[in-house]
Amino acid sequence: LDAELEGEDDEDRLPRPPVVTVMGHVDHGKTRLLDTIRDAHVQAGEAGGITQHIGAYQVVVDHTNDEGEIEQRPITFIDTPGHEAFTAMRARGADVTDIAILVVAADDGVMPQTIEALNHAQAANVPIVVAVNKIDKEDANPEKVRQQLTEYNLVAEEYGGDTMFVNVSARENLHIDDLLEAVLLTADAALDLRTNPDKDARGIAIEANLDRGRGPVATVLVQQGTLHVGDAIVCGSGHGRVRAMLDEHGVAVEEAGPSRPVQVLGLTTVPGAGDSFLVAADERQARQIAQKREAAKRAASLSRVRKRISLEDITQHMADGKVETLNLILKGDAAGSVEALEEALLGIEIDDQVQLRIIDRGVGAITMNNINLAVASNAIIIGFNVRAEGLNADYADKEGVEIKYYSVIYRAIEEVEAALQGMLKPEYEEVDTGSAEIREIFRSSKFGNIAGSIVRSGTIRRGAKARITRGGVVITEGLEVAGLRRIKDDVTEVREGFECGINLGSFNDLQLDDLITTYEMREKPRETSK
Ligand code: GDP
Repeated sequence: LDAELEGEDDEDRLPRPPVVTVMGHVDHGKTRLLDTIRDAHVQAGEAGGITQHIGAYQVVVDHTNDEGEIEQRPITFIDTPGHEAFTAMRARGADVTDIAILVVAADDGVMPQTIEALNHAQAANVPIVVAVNKIDKEDANPEKVRQQLTEYNLVAEEYGGDTMFVNVSARENLHIDDLLEAVLLTADAALDLRTNPDKDARGIAIEANLDRGRGPVATVLVQQGTLHVGDAIVCGSGHGRVRAMLDEHGVAVEEAGPSRPVQVLGLTTVPGAGDSFLVAADERQARQIAQKREAAKRAASLSRVRKRISLEDITQHMADGKVETLNLILKGDAAGSVEALEEALLGIEIDDQVQLRIIDRGVGAITMNNINLAVASNAIIIGFNVRAEGLNADYADKEGVEIKYYSVIYRAIEEVEAALQGMLKPEYEEVDTGSAEIREIFRSSKFGNIAGSIVRSGTIRRGAKARITRGGVVITEGLEVAGLRRIKDDVTEVREGFECGINLGSFNDLQLDDLITTYEMREKPRETSK
């Protein structure tokens, strides 16, 4: 991949250190592991070796090579644990991670976010090394972790697979060296990490902030070439000249080669995490490139919807013989329904030219993280009795991520199948027309429950169909707005920003903060080929 990126001659490319992200379920020890590795292995700097948190750090490992010689091999760690940051960066087009360490606590075993993390790593084609942590605990069961993960295509070497599992204790500093060795062995076996250090640097900003005394300070990861003090750079839509660079000890460095994280001083604006940087010929050119990037960014936000892949596109592409993989993310209201949906989808008979890949699944409302994964992997999200609401819905819209909502499994199957076979689209779709949040519930002997609500978007109309969601999970659909009141008057509609009383007939399982969304069934336009 590095070679492809650079169009380089083979002999100019030299090995570069792997870049590692630590992922796993909450409380399984990701932060502790990063701390232990940093404290034990970051080589003491001239300034007394006090390490600083700069968003990434490099450690140097004694590695015995095939000839039995000891080599000093660096590994770069991204110091923000979790797959959320990893996928948010990918959604912005920034692939920084070569290898993921999946931390699983040996007492807890595999948990929901363990699976989520491994789905995210696998969707990005990033090889995984499993750190079975907390083996110091009495109830640790590291073998169980190995067994559990075989179900997810992570088969330990000792079970005949090709994933390295290492038992560690981040707290007691046990077998951390073995884990680092496993990272190097996995990198050597699975990846060709070589790049040409003798050229202008390119890379990614990992984190940045505005420092009162020093101005914008960005931690960047050099991905190719070498960055020097004095280089004119463009970072995101900002620019500047590298005034100074600091390593993880706060020690000034003159240059930073491939996979090296450094803090850069001298930018004129603060870049965002995931922004790319590159070296320009001089400051003038840097400013020009930055201006172009800024203009492009503005144009993109004006055209608003950068439409990504949709089921209709798939239909069209299939007809053109183009799409090979349809990536789906499944979210549902219960584990059973997600499993049933996944099983049914995987049972669809499809052509040899296409494959259906379910890259993530989970229970609950559609989150920012799900949307980022869809952006990063060009996937479609299927919501089964769950929704994306508020900011998340806006974000999906802005990023052009298609979310398909279903409440019956066969409907979902039918549509995906139709798309995969290049057939017709469904005739009707639900279109949301307004939503209101319940602020108070009144009980009336005559009308049943009345939801005292404030309209959050669109318009609520008497007679419209309604759906209730609680924290993004659909409680019920197909209700009707039987009565609508504004102050003391019966009204036919109430607009955004106004309060009203909504009567949903005999339905009375209402709670405060529930969202009442009204919708219509609209006929879908049936345009076919273009
Ligand atoms: P994170 O949420 O995955 O980042 O987890 P943390 O690193 O914050 O760790 C969660 C808790 O587990 C903390 O109280 C840690 O001290 C503890 N912990 C982490 N690693 C170990 C370990 O190897 N052994 C034991 N006994 N506790 C650990």
